[in-house]
Amino acid sequence: MVVIGGGQSGLAAGYHLRRLGVDFVILDARSAAGGAWQHTWDSLRLFSPAAHSSLPGRLMPPQISRTCPDAQHVVEYLADYEKRYELPVERPVRVHGVHRDGRFLRVESDSGMWRARAVISATGTWWRPFLPAAPGRADFEGRQLHTVGYGSPRDFTGRRVIVVGGGNSGAQIAADLAYDTELTWVTRRPPRYLADDIDGRALFDAATARRRALDAGRTDTGGVASLGDIVAVPPVREARDRGLLKASPMFSRLTRDGVEWADGTRAEADAIIWCTGFRPSLFHLAPLQLRGRRGHIATIGTRTVDEPRLHLLGYGDWTGPASATLIGVGRPAREAAREISALLSA
Ligand code: FAD
Repeated sequence: MVVIGGGQSGLAAGYHLRRLGVDFVILDARSAAGGAWQHTWDSLRLFSPAAHSSLPGRLMPPQISRTCPDAQHVVEYLADYEKRYELPVERPVRVHGVHRDGRFLRVESDSGMWRARAVISATGTWWRPFLPAAPGRADFEGRQLHTVGYGSPRDFTGRRVIVVGGGNSGAQIAADLAYDTELTWVTRRPPRYLADDIDGRALFDAATARRRALDAGRTDTGGVASLGDIVAVPPVREARDRGLLKASPMFSRLTRDGVEWADGTRAEADAIIWCTGFRPSLFHLAPLQLRGRRGHIATIGTRTVDEPRLHLLGYGDWTGPASATLIGVGRPAREAAREISALLSA
């Protein structure tokens, strides 16, 4: 069988497939281990302490002098994880299409073709940044970038920067820029911070409780969204408490040199950073013509309803509670591996 994607989700799947004795390969488009964590901005810190950011089988070691590790620490952990469990990752291999081929799924890539009796797609969301429609976008003559293109405040020192987005990326990048730039932070609704003592563990618990309630036919608990939108990691807390994170409402259009609100107020800008989220990176599944609601393919657990040989892993709560987190992907990975093992031995 084939796992597409060698980030944390693909590795967690690999761990369980290996334990179950399944013959598999992991195909990963990057040339090095670490998935999306290789590309995040310099100051990013995990929401949770290392031990609560672990994949199945191996605790993430603590990072010296940091309670919540940085992205490089995660990259090193994933590289070690892959080696430790001798996971068969082939890279760089980019899959461009998965096709039905009789009793097989045919996985076509830039490095050859595989016939698999089952496939796990674990390609993440980082590779498909989302930009909302914005009147006047083409008129703006300054620099526009998405979260994925942001690296460090050094690139913007002394500049007028507008950060768009009231989620974790928007808040963290705004906090990063609050000291050395002329910052305008724009959010669609007033920022909703989680309580200062809430970290990734509580998010995982909330996502799990919601899934359990929905599965049992009970009232929707609201999950993570019921707690807030922004984890108050230390840099965000500090900038907020110093009064540097004042949010303005969403502007109505971009102009040649900045943005304009509905009441005619304007702000000039050298750069606009769109921290407006991601979509699942699923282009390689287009040949299977699977449909679902709101761009999601319909699944039961991780199994695709209209193609039971295909499992989707790590894309968000719709593929398992908190499955797009380090701590959360283990359980759905185990379920996917078990189902596939049963399918292959049937
Ligand atoms: P990825 O890490 O994106 O890995 C997917 C892999 O698949 C990549 O290597 C990619 O190259 C490969 N791939 C993609 N397309 C193809 C293809 N067609 N063929 C072959 N290979 C392909 N989680 C936490 O637990 N704690 C946190 O504090 C936290 N903070 C976050 C902060 C930010 C800003 C973001 C964006 C996410 C954060 N997350 C956090 C969420 C989550 O852990 C990451 O999104 C995680 O990287 C998802 O892992 P993944 O393996 O599913 O996807």
